[in-house]
Amino acid sequence: MDVYLDYNATAPLRPEVAAAMNAAFGLCGNASSVHRYGRLARRAVENAREAIADAVDASAAEIVFTSGGTEANNLALRGSGRPVLISGIEHDSVRAAQDDVEVIGVDRDGVVDLTQLETLLGAAAAPALVSVMLANNETGVVQPIDQVVTLARRFDALVHCDAVQALGKIPVSFAGLDVDMMSLSAHKLGGPQGVGALLIRDGLNLAPVQRGGGQERSRRAGTENIAGIAGFGAAAALTTQSVEAAPGLAALRDDIEARVKAAVPDAVIYSADASRLPNTSCIGLPGVTNEVQVMALDLAGVAISAGSACSSGKVTPSHVLQAMGAADDAAASAIRVSLGWQSSAADCDRFVETWTALANRRVASDLAEQSVA
Ligand code: PLP
Repeated sequence: MDVYLDYNATAPLRPEVAAAMNAAFGLCGNASSVHRYGRLARRAVENAREAIADAVDASAAEIVFTSGGTEANNLALRGSGRPVLISGIEHDSVRAAQDDVEVIGVDRDGVVDLTQLETLLGAAAAPALVSVMLANNETGVVQPIDQVVTLARRFDALVHCDAVQALGKIPVSFAGLDVDMMSLSAHKLGGPQGVGALLIRDGLNLAPVQRGGGQERSRRAGTENIAGIAGFGAAAALTTQSVEAAPGLAALRDDIEARVKAAVPDAVIYSADASRLPNTSCIGLPGVTNEVQVMALDLAGVAISAGSACSSGKVTPSHVLQAMGAADDAAASAIRVSLGWQSSAADCDRFVETWTALANRRVASDLAEQSVA
């Protein structure tokens, strides 16, 4: 693939991560074994835990390694035993974790409705668990977690925050956000796929979802993924560097959006005026489904994604855009362009040229249809 602009789906592995993983593949021990091989594996896990704790301003003991963001979200929501309130723009792994959830609406920019949250908290049968993401995977919109926490505390509610898309793009502090739980995933920041973490505030007890072993202080059973965890630690150690590079990505992203709007005036830039991740753009092209756009760009060597498109390549109208009030056809014509550590101005040029040519063909074919009619 010539141009990769799908970092929110997965970021290319960082070379430092590959090196750390290669070193860890050489360890043959089980981190639970007491002999020297086990102790070496344990040291790799604990070094990574320290690096991640440093990166997100948490204590190492608060980190529970999981198989990724999906498992972390499931553990947070299913382990609390409380009534659950989630925002309408959460990732599917939050939306599907529990059967009975109350959904908090969002405004047209995709920002959670705090007034409705307050009403739902007041109406909950017991102190609730509120789950609101730090930044949305499709639009990049950053949520007012401080205000969510302030409200939740008034009603003795706990707060879980899915920070999977935020880490490495904006500063993320577990202590600063003051939430009770926070989900992370390594592959969104240049680490490996299949490893993540749930941060659980010191003193908070969760019922484990996965049972059958005492690993992770009995909070998540199963032999640790040593190489994956080592790679996660190496990726976390690069988050300051990544966040420092964010203004450069924001400039590239803003330039893409300005050129798209100039060339195709009816294109829609979702949440353009909201506080957003620096790397993410959600662009609607009226009259052309996102599936067609993704395929046309793929043929031209440019990789982007359709809406969330996280699972099994299925394309359905984005629930995030629908929650923001977009009509079904508009929600099905939005693509996501997401930049990262290897993105260049030349990549952005290729995207704009290819996408604009597609949009202009749309105009030409519309005109042809009109003249035939
Ligand atoms: N949460 C958000 C906001 C995501 O964007 C994703 C993946 O796209 C996940 C959770 C799931 O993470 P993982 O792929 O590690 O299971």
